[in-house]
Amino acid sequence: MTTPTSRWRALAALLRPDARRWACLGVLVGVSSALSLAGPLVVRRIVDIATEGGDDAASRITRAALLFLAIAVVTQLIMVSVAWFATVTAWRTTNTIRLTMARHVLGLDHEFHRTHTPGELIQRVDGDVTSVSDFLGRVVPKLTGAAAVVVGMVGVLAVIDWRLAVGAAWYVAAAGAVVVRGRHRAVGESSDEMGAYAALYGGIEERLTASEDLRANGAGRHAMWRFIDESGRAMRSAVRRESAFLRLWWAVQASLSVGSVAALVAGTALVSAGSITVGTAFLLFQYVLLLERPLEDVVHELETIQKANGAMVRVIDLLAVEPAVVDEGTTLPAAGPLSVAFDHLSFDYGDGESVLDDVHLTLAAGRSMGIVGRTGSGKTTLSRLVLRLVEATGGQLRLNGVPIAEIPMAELRRRVAMIPQEVELFSGTLRDNVTLFDPRPTDAAVERALEQAGLGALVAGGIHRELGAGGAGLSAGEAQLLALARVWLRDPDLVVLDEATARVDPETEARLDAAVTALMEGRTTLVIAHRLSTLRHVDEILVLDHGRVLEHGDRDELAADETSRFHHLLEIALEPHRADDVVDDDLELLS
Ligand code: ATP
Ligand code: MG
Repeated sequence: MTTPTSRWRALAALLRPDARRWACLGVLVGVSSALSLAGPLVVRRIVDIATEGGDDAASRITRAALLFLAIAVVTQLIMVSVAWFATVTAWRTTNTIRLTMARHVLGLDHEFHRTHTPGELIQRVDGDVTSVSDFLGRVVPKLTGAAAVVVGMVGVLAVIDWRLAVGAAWYVAAAGAVVVRGRHRAVGESSDEMGAYAALYGGIEERLTASEDLRANGAGRHAMWRFIDESGRAMRSAVRRESAFLRLWWAVQASLSVGSVAALVAGTALVSAGSITVGTAFLLFQYVLLLERPLEDVVHELETIQKANGAMVRVIDLLAVEPAVVDEGTTLPAAGPLSVAFDHLSFDYGDGESVLDDVHLTLAAGRSMGIVGRTGSGKTTLSRLVLRLVEATGGQLRLNGVPIAEIPMAELRRRVAMIPQEVELFSGTLRDNVTLFDPRPTDAAVERALEQAGLGALVAGGIHRELGAGGAGLSAGEAQLLALARVWLRDPDLVVLDEATARVDPETEARLDAAVTALMEGRTTLVIAHRLSTLRHVDEILVLDHGRVLEHGDRDELAADETSRFHHLLEIALEPHRADDVVDDDLELLS
């Protein structure tokens, strides 16, 4: 969490690249405020000349009127440029912020993304930054303008007559107090409403995602009722917010009426007493009217201010999050297949529960190791450590002798590839899904990778054909084959395959088997296996249990050793009817 001071500093840092533009904008706003105060001064002069009379009164009035006209035209021009300039500058700044945020979020590690939903991040990078943009581009110029008008007005009146200045200052303070008090309530209702809408949209998203489950369980009706309930709550809070703002608006109008009457009464009294001229009384009245816009602006923009305030805090807090995995390495491991050394490796996901505990073994370069263990034993976690998606909490992992933290991330990504348990597919063509939108590989290379992965049949349909949204039309097995093609294309030195748990048909299984075996050639391979057939071709076996190494050794030796866990597993696979004889635990090892 950041402190308010550090937040202001961070905000200033975000504005700094466009500091000159913001300064120009400040000057423009100042000029436009000064001009809006000058108009009534000219009118005052006209009225005074008219009441004084005299020979040249008519020509003096004409000149003053022309001046008034010129001021009005220039004011309008400047107001338009302020609006234009403010919007452009605000967008420049917010685009920079958005880019910074997107880069920052993409650079954050697995742990961060596990605890922040994609929706939340989109809201941060898009919604919150837009609120900040609105605030900077619209509200800041308006409020600075309003403040300049108030200060300038009191200043002008002070020059004319100190009593008028005191009266005006007092009036502005009173009107301000009314707005601030009303604001408190309106803002409270406003954030209630935001909460109600967040719950509503969150609920909709959740139920749409789970629509299949809901339908299958006949829960559609209940889901619908909850939706109606949440909509009702959102609507009621919207009404409450709207009425709070309406009351505030009335309060502002009432203050203005009171102010106008007070200005007229005071003006008349002072003119009768001979203290001020009729023109000055008129000026006072006009200045009260001039306050209408700033006060209304404050009321109208309260919501934007409130939203932007929260948004700014969230934006800055997010930018302050440091990635746990830092890319500061400079050592390149020797070329060729990578050896993997797990050196007393331990890991927990930050909840204190040990997921991997003192894993200590080495896999020589070019060899392959099958990893088995019941569900939750830490297999996928081990693969995340090898890809440095997470950082070990104890011990060390070395690739070709180089501690993984000392390898530059780009080098690590180039040389280590992963085929995840659940393959993500993107809406796009088959080619896009293999290259992950990299335009560089040639079509021929992509086709070859697909063929090597055993997806030759898909190539026949053309690699530029669109896959459905989320890769619709591919089975879990085929999706893994596609992920295999991605790896073929990149040609890494170390491959981690986390086999899909979903059942695949025997034919796909055979294809996967062949493709994985071919992939092992000339690389180091870690295969997290859920099927024994995959383990037929590996050199070594690691049996994990509750994050600890239960067994590790040469595959053939373990297979021959009748007392080994792996031997039991093979027995079950070869003679399923003997499953009764083996311990239940063994059955679970291949989860
Ligand atoms: P499976 O065979 O089901 O794929 P696995 O051996 O791959 O299981 P892991 O995914 O490594 O198991 O999980 C090991 C333990 O760590 C489990 O207890 C799991 O609940 C926990 N775990 C996994 N991922 C996370 C995460 N992102 N955050 C917190 N805990 C996690
Ligand atoms: Mg897993």
